[in-house]
Amino acid sequence: MTMKMEANQPVIEAQCLRKSYNQKLAVEDLSLTVGRGEVFGFLGPNGAGKTTSLKMLLGLVVPTGGSGTLLGRPLGEPETRRHVGFLPEHFRFHEWLQAAEFLHFHGRLYGMSPKRRQERVAEVLELVGLSDCAGQKLSTFSKGMLQRIGIAQALLNDPHVVFLDEPTSGLDPLGRRLVRDIIQSMKEQGITVFLNSHLLSEVERVCDRVAIINKGRVVEQGALAELLSGEFEVDLRLGAPSPALLEELERLAGPITANGSVMSVRLQDEAAIPHLAEIVVKHKGQLLALTPRRSSLEDYFVQVIEGDV
Ligand code: ADP
Repeated sequence: MTMKMEANQPVIEAQCLRKSYNQKLAVEDLSLTVGRGEVFGFLGPNGAGKTTSLKMLLGLVVPTGGSGTLLGRPLGEPETRRHVGFLPEHFRFHEWLQAAEFLHFHGRLYGMSPKRRQERVAEVLELVGLSDCAGQKLSTFSKGMLQRIGIAQALLNDPHVVFLDEPTSGLDPLGRRLVRDIIQSMKEQGITVFLNSHLLSEVERVCDRVAIINKGRVVEQGALAELLSGEFEVDLRLGAPSPALLEELERLAGPITANGSVMSVRLQDEAAIPHLAEIVVKHKGQLLALTPRRSSLEDYFVQVIEGDV
């Protein structure tokens, strides 16, 4: 089957998806849209409903309510899976197989011809940097190598959309960078990537848009640049600040958080920075350092989750 899709049709769309296991609600209301070639980060604390959501989109878990489409077809259609790649969080490998044998086995499951398999296995091994290990048994692979072969498996069928469930957890910094580079190259090829992750700095580096899920509900969704624009933090190092100074700083910037000798305040507007310095000088405080920085995704995430009561 070839997938016929309009250019502006969403690759993934969910409307009010819900899932309860017996009486327990795992996902209450999942609505989101992901376009072609987007890298979409799906974030949330443990137990928020990330994996259940991803499995509903993949058709592996049947929703209790709501609806959605994947590649323009209703969720759960087996034919769509030909064009979908998936790296589960806890992927079980056939460890007695060699790397290339393992990929050929998966290629046969996808119904790929022997010729196409031959080409594609070599391509994906190259992509994940494991060409030299094609004949090596998976039982001898490190955790990072197994994760990479898992990604190779997810890309084997030339998917239009790839779902990666925590692809970098447990990897060392080099392994994480490689996964980031692979995601980047998928994006350049127009492949849509849906990335479940709790590693926020990773997500920040590769995602165009994010949704934050908490207690089964999407509480924020948007372009990363927009979510993080505007707000920023200022780190201040002050010598012996007086109570009056701290009080006035709090009036300007709200609660102050302290980390050792560095205090951080959150400002809505860059124009408030000179005013901050004036307040310190007015109260005869010693201004040892003043460092503005944009809120990170981690700051934003903590703020959203803590504010969602
Ligand atoms: P996350 O991936 O964000 O950690 P999950 O989607 O795995 O969250 O889980 C969401 C909630 O649903 C959790 O409270 C979890 O215990 C529950 N849950 C997930 N899968 C099942 C299942 N098969 N049976 C019963 N409860 C489940």
